[in-house]
Amino acid sequence: MTSRFQELMNNLEQLRLTKMSAYLPEYLDQINGKQLSFTEAMLNLTKAELDWRQGEHVDRIIKRARFPQVKLLKAFDFDFQPSVNRQLVMSFQDLAFLEKHENLIFIGSPGVGKTHLAIGVGIAACQQNKRTLFVNCHELLLRLGAAYKKGTLDRCIRRYARYDLLIIDEIGYLPIDHDEANLLFQLINARYEVHSTIITSNSELSTWVEIFQNPTVTSAILDRLVHRAHVIKITGKSYRLKQQN
Ligand code: ADP
Ligand code: MG
Repeated sequence: MTSRFQELMNNLEQLRLTKMSAYLPEYLDQINGKQLSFTEAMLNLTKAELDWRQGEHVDRIIKRARFPQVKLLKAFDFDFQPSVNRQLVMSFQDLAFLEKHENLIFIGSPGVGKTHLAIGVGIAACQQNKRTLFVNCHELLLRLGAAYKKGTLDRCIRRYARYDLLIIDEIGYLPIDHDEANLLFQLINARYEVHSTIITSNSELSTWVEIFQNPTVTSAILDRLVHRAHVIKITGKSYRLKQQN
């Protein structure tokens, strides 16, 4: 190894061009063998570096979104769940719904794939650099309640309202009292027509009044969620039970 080559490698490392320094020897061979022009080699090397950086960037966005697991839309078995409109759900990946500030609401009994689909769309948003957060409804209500008690509710709502995509999982899994319903309303209202929200729920929208135990707040929340929304009802069997057979 010549000292000039070593100096070049050191420079690339100092500049944190790790992929360029990793692939450089291979490309030098090709340049020296006249298989590749200098420009062509530099183009490939810079492309490798940029691709890697974009991948790292997406990984960071996915990590920040706090998905409980990584689930991809392409791993969803639509044949098992024929009540789901495959074309519609796959089309969410292009994020047109997000540009139009529309909401997605996945309704169905446990195990039918609501959370899987919500995460799948969320990952697609992350891959397109959208600030995304996944949160369980109960945990969200605890956080909003704690902020309210501390007198920092406005700041907390603004923080949740800023995400390009907020996924609230399992609305209605646990009962929601009057104060919590009010907090949830404030958040939904702050995002209404500004940013998209994905909701999953085991309960039909018509029974939400029993979850919130307050018809006025229920209709105020539903009004904003459902105006400009795709409601995806999944009526099939649980995938978890399938796996046990
Ligand atoms: P839900 O949120 O509706 O209760 P989940 O999305 O958590 O259900 O699904 C339960 C498990 O089954 C998850 O591991 C999920 O990835 C898997 N699953 C559900 N439906 C399908 C499907 N149609 N194809 C592939 N995996 C599925
Ligand atoms: Mg779920």
